[in-house]
Amino acid sequence: MKAQKMDRPNEGIVCSVDTCYYYMQGDRCTASQIHVSPRGSTTSEQTDCDTFYYKKDNS
Ligand code: SF4
Repeated sequence: MKAQKMDRPNEGIVCSVDTCYYYMQGDRCTASQIHVSPRGSTTSEQTDCDTFYYKKDNS
């Protein structure tokens, strides 16, 4: 499921993945919602944002 890209940041999300389609300057995320997985993770390193969508040009 692809999230809607909003014209404002999703309050409460700080993200530094500047190659993502949803990334906004200032380490903000404009996705209407995000999905983080997988179940059963025991460390933060094991978790990933599944909503991430690679954007080559973030200008
Ligand atoms: S969708 Fe995920 S990876 Fe992309 S900016 Fe939002 S939180 Fe970051």
